[in-house]
Amino acid sequence: VFQLSMPLNFLGSVYRELRQSLIDMDTMFNLENQNALIQDAPDAKDLVFKGGEIRFENVVFGYHPDRPILNNVSFTVNAGEKAAFVGPSGCGKSTILRLLFRFYDPQSGNIYIDGQNIKDIKLDSLRKAIGVVPQDTSLFNNTILYNVQYGRIEANRDEVYQAAKRAEIHDVIMSLPDKYETKVGERGLMLSGGEKQRVSLARTLLKNPKILFLDEATSALDTHTEQSLLTNFRNILRDTGMTSFHIAHRLRTIRDADEIFVLKDGSIVESGSHEKLLKTEHSVYKEMWDRQEKLH
Ligand code: ATP
Repeated sequence: VFQLSMPLNFLGSVYRELRQSLIDMDTMFNLENQNALIQDAPDAKDLVFKGGEIRFENVVFGYHPDRPILNNVSFTVNAGEKAAFVGPSGCGKSTILRLLFRFYDPQSGNIYIDGQNIKDIKLDSLRKAIGVVPQDTSLFNNTILYNVQYGRIEANRDEVYQAAKRAEIHDVIMSLPDKYETKVGERGLMLSGGEKQRVSLARTLLKNPKILFLDEATSALDTHTEQSLLTNFRNILRDTGMTSFHIAHRLRTIRDADEIFVLKDGSIVESGSHEKLLKTEHSVYKEMWDRQEKLH
């Protein structure tokens, strides 16, 4: 028994190591992924930030050319506005983020930030300007401090604490045995889905991006924490004037968006405020809203 369990234990730990390194890679490369085809144009410039207006102009894109995901998508999000994208699963909401981050280039059409075609902007300057809070956050097998500080390595402790406070996770961290030195992740303390999301939010706030992309960022939270964080978000967005994109499944969380875009079959079929879309007879949005409200 002894002889047999030794190698199995060993294999188990190799497997865990391997899996963890895949998670780490996923965390880093999912969004920091360097698609070899995407490179700086020879005369690429730094983004000149003027407020964060984002414009998609006749964007056509598919991961495989024979299967278009976005079919002639055009929209403008004004500087400092809160925009939301809704639509059925798989309709291309996250794809919009990937294109804005320039993990892929559109097959045709253009994307502009403050009037500058993102193809002409240096990649690191572009990606520095955009912060993302993903749907599923995997944390590094390291301390909480490391996990938050990853957003801006050179940030000092005070700045880390400030970001954690704004993400409403500071008090939770301070109650842990080793506070900011507590190891988290697969081999350390397991945080709940909502706590992980708030660590991820703190990391992103520390990065202090000009444009914030939230992929249903409050999905793992209970209703109370969600409400509290949403109020907090509103304040953060108001204070910083960041342009923000929200991908939402639950429409209640984006009711206050300046502009809601409804994606369907590769196109934006409706857009406007919550009130406007609800007033539109037979709108896709109203149907989605009524369906969700019935469940409450
Ligand atoms: P959800 O609401 O479920 O998160 P979504 O609207 O964000 O979905 P996307 O993630 O943008 O949808 O995906 C749009 C379509 O593109 C889906 O059909 C998906 O299967 C496909 N897709 C996404 N990523 C890739 C990829 N790397 N290679 C090939 N197809 C992909």
